Amino acid sequence: MGGIFGAVGKHDCVNDIFYGTDYLSHLGTKRGGMAVSGPSGFAWKIHKLESNYFRNQLEPDLPELSGNIGIGAISDTDAQPLPFTSHLGRFCVATVGRINNGDELTAQAVHNGCCFGGSSDGDIRSTEIVAMLLSAEKSFEDGIRAVHEKIKGSCTFIIMTPEGLYGCRDKLGRTPLILGQKKDAFALSSESSAFQNLGYTTVRDLGPGEAVFISPDGYETRIAARKAMQICTFLWVYYGYPSSNYEGVNVEDFRYRCGATLAQRDIRDGFLVGEKNPEDILVGGIPDSGIGHAIGYANSRGLPYRRPIVKYTPTWPRSFMPQNQQSRNLVARMKLIPNRTLIEGRRIIFLDDSIVRGTQLKDNARVFFGNKAAEAHMRIACPPLLHPCEFLNFSSSRATLELIARKAILALEGVEGRDIDRYADASDPRHAAMVEWIREQLGLTSLKFQTLDDLVKAVGLPKERICTHCWDASSWG
Ligand code: SF4
Repeated sequence: MGGIFGAVGKHDCVNDIFYGTDYLSHLGTKRGGMAVSGPSGFAWKIHKLESNYFRNQLEPDLPELSGNIGIGAISDTDAQPLPFTSHLGRFCVATVGRINNGDELTAQAVHNGCCFGGSSDGDIRSTEIVAMLLSAEKSFEDGIRAVHEKIKGSCTFIIMTPEGLYGCRDKLGRTPLILGQKKDAFALSSESSAFQNLGYTTVRDLGPGEAVFISPDGYETRIAARKAMQICTFLWVYYGYPSSNYEGVNVEDFRYRCGATLAQRDIRDGFLVGEKNPEDILVGGIPDSGIGHAIGYANSRGLPYRRPIVKYTPTWPRSFMPQNQQSRNLVARMKLIPNRTLIEGRRIIFLDDSIVRGTQLKDNARVFFGNKAAEAHMRIACPPLLHPCEFLNFSSSRATLELIARKAILALEGVEGRDIDRYADASDPRHAAMVEWIREQLGLTSLKFQTLDDLVKAVGLPKERICTHCWDASSWG
């Protein structure tokens, strides 16, 4: 997905940009960089993050970076932020999102005489496409409007100029951008949780399509927010940091509500209710994002929350994710260590945020039974993923037939995607058959998914304001 951070102050703000961007490291795994505007012009540094943290990679560069205006990016795709020279003057851009019509836009621009640098793997970077669209217009404001109008997919971005920063949220608010303030400085961030330790307080979330300009003297809205919003629900389910808020909804709090809803449904279904030996039941979560959901479930049922699987945190940050699937599977297995003392003989209720391919959960089930668990019950915080994301750059494992729910439909129907709406409907027998097929594949004692209605209720915003495309193919923009 990726994250962006920017700060402007009356004094040097390199440390704020450095630590603020580092606090977005859970959002991306491929490239990280910073750019600053100071007395001697623009300076920027970009590094690979595939084998090291942003902080470790960028720290040696800090003596070469100074300025009171700057931006940083953590990216799953492009090397960024990138600098450009145009008739609008010098500027740098950092982006989050996905441009589905990049080929079309670049072909048109090349035909009109533009040229692009491109990345080492031959792709044109999103950042370059945004810069091309900006510099084709008479002002940054017109350029921002052109980005919103011409890009298919989603794009939230920050533009750094020598005078200040333009913070521009995606036209449907698919990804957040939050404005913060402290004495003598302003900041923009993908995550509100990046602010607290740097002394910023949240002013507000930018609205969909809104553009603000922040300078050492203050901030002002340059393009008003649009009405329609489709913020990604997966931010709360998985991507977001627990201490972050988007649209006033806290991530950790949301996860507690999700877990509690699953717990109450289990109680209504009579699942493990009135057991003679409740002390052999425990609730756990797959680290990291399953933990909040599991705490919510355990608290709601009055069952003990335990950690039968613990992540080896000293060397495996969540963000470390090799690009090839085989290595990813190995990393997923190696970083989680089972605790046999807690597992043996117990009935384990385990929560996770979602099931994409199911490989990791299958491993988890094997680990439980390998350590002599009596039962392994899995509860998933969102409905089965039936549609790949078209708006953000998620991992390639979200290709349609990689999704375990789509494999289930193919196996049950003999035809890919047949009657998919009925499989999406939690009250339809086909949905139950799909869940049972997945349960069997993963080797679990029982499996339940959150319903879409309950997921929307847990967010607490009107359904038409959040993106639920992963689950019901609802499509805007
Ligand atoms: S399709 Fe899913 S992951 Fe993509 S923006 Fe919508 S909710 Fe988020």
